[in-house]
Amino acid sequence: MLIVKKFGGSSVADKERIYHVAKRCMEDYQKGNDVVVVLSAMGKTTDSLLEMAKNINPDPSKRELDMLLSTGEQTSAALMSMAMGALGVPAISLNAFQVMMQTSSRYGNARFKKIDTQRIRHELDNRKIVIVTGFQGVNKYEDITTLGRGGSDTTAVALAAVLHADSCEIYTDVEGVYTADPRIVPNAKKIPEITYDEMLELATLGAKVLHNRSVEMAKKYGVQLVVRSSLNNAQGTVVKEETDMESMLVSGVAVDKNTSRVAVFGVKDIPGIAFKIFDLLAKHHINVDIILQSIGQEGTKDISFTVAREDADETVAILEEHKNRITAKKIEKNDAVAKVSIVGAGMQSNPGVASRMFEALYNAGINIRMIATSEIRITVLINEEDVDKAMRAVHDQFIED
Ligand code: ASP
Ligand code: MG
Repeated sequence: MLIVKKFGGSSVADKERIYHVAKRCMEDYQKGNDVVVVLSAMGKTTDSLLEMAKNINPDPSKRELDMLLSTGEQTSAALMSMAMGALGVPAISLNAFQVMMQTSSRYGNARFKKIDTQRIRHELDNRKIVIVTGFQGVNKYEDITTLGRGGSDTTAVALAAVLHADSCEIYTDVEGVYTADPRIVPNAKKIPEITYDEMLELATLGAKVLHNRSVEMAKKYGVQLVVRSSLNNAQGTVVKEETDMESMLVSGVAVDKNTSRVAVFGVKDIPGIAFKIFDLLAKHHINVDIILQSIGQEGTKDISFTVAREDADETVAILEEHKNRITAKKIEKNDAVAKVSIVGAGMQSNPGVASRMFEALYNAGINIRMIATSEIRITVLINEEDVDKAMRAVHDQFIED
């Protein structure tokens, strides 16, 4: 078997943990498997490197930032190989250049284009454990790129895809994917199996266990994933195309606090206004999420929508600047909001899920400001201060003890 094992920063945070991971990888190796290990930077290294950069130059070049950030993964990979060496297991660490993992040119948010397998295969054939740096790639200028925060998961899935691995295991400091954040919802449960689509919705909504692009890639290439703890042997969560059990009505509840609501009041009720507003934002690369338009009254209407919180001020500024062209009377924003979503593949074939969610919120005295749905997700926008209460209420409504 060829096994790809990815360990997150907390799993390699210090000497003790590095040795713990090394031993875990050795067990698979000694059973005769080929083992490829993908590592994140140790502990909070990436954050510290970012701090260091900001300290030198508040607005550093993106190229140099990637050059700097990529050292975190290179450090953990080399140390892991040394630990394995000390344990008497042949291992070799490789960075993105040595493997040749080609990406798009965009620094800080690059995407894989092509990964060579020759070097890795060669080292595996020599019965070495191959340790690969996560999170990094090489662009057409032969510069180091990084894949965006949390990107090591994507490295692991990409390698599993190109190497046709038999198993891709993502090790982290929690035991798997939960029905809600256990710190807020104490009776949250570990999910044994979840579909790519459900996981993608949850990952995008801020359940931070997996990088959302890693899930996209796993779906595209049919790489089955297991998310599990590096600290114990508990069964983790399997992420795959279709779950064996009948689809759960609701698999999980997720929260996204990184959102703001922008409202545009009193625009003319004529064709082309929505186009003008959202075209302006698109041109400024501002992503819009939930959109709500009121029914026109006396020739005017209101349009409100949500954007990522860091884009809210810019959004208001752009719209203020074009206030006349978009015929707006007033533009307002509210940062004190949050999105609560339920996700479940079983929703597609079961009516009444939305009403049960709204009932739970009503019983908890929580006002809904906006609603959005997809085939397998229902999202409500509520006041941020109600978030924990909403999460517990909705979780209790759908997920049985
Ligand atoms: N070290 C990088 C980060 O902290 C990548 C990763 O951990 O996946 O974002
Ligand atoms: Mg991560």
